[in-house]
Amino acid sequence: MALNKPKLGQNFLVDTAARQAIVDALGPLSASTVLEIGPGRGALTDMLVPRARRLVAVELDRVLAHRLEEAWKHAGHVEIRAGDILEMEMTTLSQTGPLVVVGNLPYYITSDILLHLFAHASAIRRTIVMVQEEVADRLAAQSGSSAYGVLSATAQMHARIEKLFVLPPEAFSPPPNVNSAVVRLEMQPRFEELHVERIAFMRFLQLCFGQKRKTLANNLKRAFPPATVQAAIEEIGLHASVRAEAVPLEETARLFRRLQGLA
Ligand code: SAM
Repeated sequence: MALNKPKLGQNFLVDTAARQAIVDALGPLSASTVLEIGPGRGALTDMLVPRARRLVAVELDRVLAHRLEEAWKHAGHVEIRAGDILEMEMTTLSQTGPLVVVGNLPYYITSDILLHLFAHASAIRRTIVMVQEEVADRLAAQSGSSAYGVLSATAQMHARIEKLFVLPPEAFSPPPNVNSAVVRLEMQPRFEELHVERIAFMRFLQLCFGQKRKTLANNLKRAFPPATVQAAIEEIGLHASVRAEAVPLEETARLFRRLQGLA
């Protein structure tokens, strides 16, 4: 199949039922500030404007942003920003309450956008995003399953995740090369509950999953003395040859605390 990569990930949603289902999944919006990522030609924006208390939409393509600004210039509660979502500081927007975030994500920067949202998790209540189906499966995967990896663990430290529905390529124009899926993330960071510091634990997760073929112990030995790793893994009650993808988050956090000398 020929590679189909439109500029800036611009696969516009043309399936009306899917537009409706995405907006419905956001729940009531009349008291919420909604942040839309990449409004494009306004497939979702048109439905969000009458529902949201306030709507801020951030679009990198200046031509599309300008068109939306013209379309909504008389709606006082709507603000179209021409810019990069990855440079947006979201905390200032959430002063009147946690944000609701929505977007059919540009697939070339899906992971970067998700990480940016996780970094702002305390400013966000709920997020509904369209991603590649394979990414949706990784986000929602349980430990022990083949799809579980560092993205699953990172996401699940920040949110409760549910894959809502799948859309075929024909739902978009131009069609992408893969199926897409809509995912709901209820932001509920678990760092306090699991007694781990966010940045340090995110780094630890990268280390645990560093090399897919290696055992957890071998990945950890890149940063800790082998005897310390072995002792910590045994104390937690894990098998010496366990792989990171088989370990639930609670136990990964225990191992982290043990290695930090906190447990
Ligand atoms: N929401 C529209 C829809 O559903 O039809 C467009 C979705 S399209 C998959 C992704 C949109 O994100 C495009 O309009 C693209 O220009 C925009 N975009 C790409 N990179 C962006 C970035 N870094 N910041 C903000 N918007 C971006």
